[in-house]
Amino acid sequence: MCNLLEENYPELLEDFFTAGARRLNFTDLTPPALLSQYQQQPGDEKLWLLMCRRATMETVLRRYVDKQPSIQIKNTTYVTGIQTKRDNGTVAICGLELTDRLNNNAKSVYQADAYIDASGRSSKFSQWLGAIGVDISEQHDDAEIVYYTRHYKLNEGAVEPSRHDNEPAAGDLGYLKYGVFPGDGGHFAIIICLPNAETELRAAVKNGDYFDSICRTIPGLAPWINETVSHATTDTFGIGEIHAVWRDWVSQDKPDVLNFFAVGDSSARTNPLYGRGCSIGILHAHLLADVLTDNQDPTQRAQAFHKLTQERIRPIFDASLREDKSGIKRADAVKKGLDRDTANSIKSWFRLAFGDALAAAVRDHLHVFRGMMRTFNLIEKPGEFLQDNKIRLTILRYMLRGRKRNAKARVQRGPTRAEMLAHIATTITATETTAQQNKGTS
Ligand SMILES: Cc1cc2nc3c(=O)[nH]c(=O)nc-3n(C[C@H](O)[C@H](O)[C@H](O)COP(=O)(O)OP(=O)(O)OC[C@H]3O[C@@H](n4cnc5c(N)ncnc54)[C@H](O)[C@@H]3O)c2cc1C
Repeated sequence: MCNLLEENYPELLEDFFTAGARRLNFTDLTPPALLSQYQQQPGDEKLWLLMCRRATMETVLRRYVDKQPSIQIKNTTYVTGIQTKRDNGTVAICGLELTDRLNNNAKSVYQADAYIDASGRSSKFSQWLGAIGVDISEQHDDAEIVYYTRHYKLNEGAVEPSRHDNEPAAGDLGYLKYGVFPGDGGHFAIIICLPNAETELRAAVKNGDYFDSICRTIPGLAPWINETVSHATTDTFGIGEIHAVWRDWVSQDKPDVLNFFAVGDSSARTNPLYGRGCSIGILHAHLLADVLTDNQDPTQRAQAFHKLTQERIRPIFDASLREDKSGIKRADAVKKGLDRDTANSIKSWFRLAFGDALAAAVRDHLHVFRGMMRTFNLIEKPGEFLQDNKIRLTILRYMLRGRKRNAKARVQRGPTRAEMLAHIATTITATETTAQQNKGTS
């Protein structure tokens, strides 16, 4: 997303910086221990992050779009249905039914050459098409987690905790994933992801005080949740239905529907935990713009867009889905108290040994770290850096020195599940006792 913004919308990017968004370059993200190995390489300039709140992003984007003479924003008008016709036996969309909710639900129809569904995770187009007998193929996988967020602001004069001197501000304890999302103007958000099955913890994080208390037990989060450093600006918000959803609009090279293109979440939705949704959306939209410019025929347009979507978006979706699946297995093993490190087949031994070797090599070698960042930043297809011979050799060398040594790179950065459950039980009991005492006194 950052690179597409930089290449195509330099003014928009400036608007982001004016609004307080920050740019973190590759060297800002590189751990100090690896900086001594740093020599600039072509492509490093593409490894950067744009940091701001979602509210800032949406406001800046909205103002920028508002200034474009070719775009009209109809804020109170909703797409509430579709009109279709048959084109050589295939259903083609020929109109959108609109409802203006601020104007007595006035109905109208909008017609165009092509219709683009960018209506996000609640898109109704596949349902509307299904109702007229067009069966859109849909893959739907539940990540089996709930995502909780709380927003904070740094206190006057306080500085953001260093991303290098402290434990990493994002991690996975098996039963709980966490992360700090630094924003703009001293704002930041903390997310906690819990498996659906972690009922006690899920009940606890809904309460802001318990949310903070849980964060304080995690070394990577504790420096952020400190009364001298920051204060909460919101309660906790939960969001469920974290599903990976993939829709195909072309079956066996034959479009299911013509004049219709779905981009972003309405076509490929991934777990928000990985922060890939905005990049997928903008990349997908640019692929579509190229297709619409290069092809005029509705069937060719659908086929070309489908092909590019499969080539460029599907690998990102697949990698996110794999991470969801392994997260589910890991959480299940932790809940059952199973040892996740014992291999029960040669294949699983190799997978574990490779994972440990990679984790240790990333920590020690800049070229492996850079490769991983290329995947993380979606500069390449996920995992492509593992095809690089130098990186493969380094990982092989680490595998040869043995799993035990490599596994030290993968320390549990926080309490075990049992410790966390005990912590939360004690915190709740103490809070309830104090509340009862106060009630008695008053
Ligand atoms: C809790 C959470 C945290 C996330 N964090 C990140 C992150 O850190 N980084 C990241 O990259 N991604 C993140 N994502 C994912 C990201 O928000 C989405 O992938 C991205 O917004 C998808 O963009 P979109 O344009 O496809 O859809 P959306 O951003 O959802 O936009 C859809 C738009 O369509 C409008 N709309 C819907 N239906 C209709 C209708 N019938 N008529 C008219 N308008 C309609 C909606 O009002 C909305 O404005 C997060 C998602 C969630 C839920």
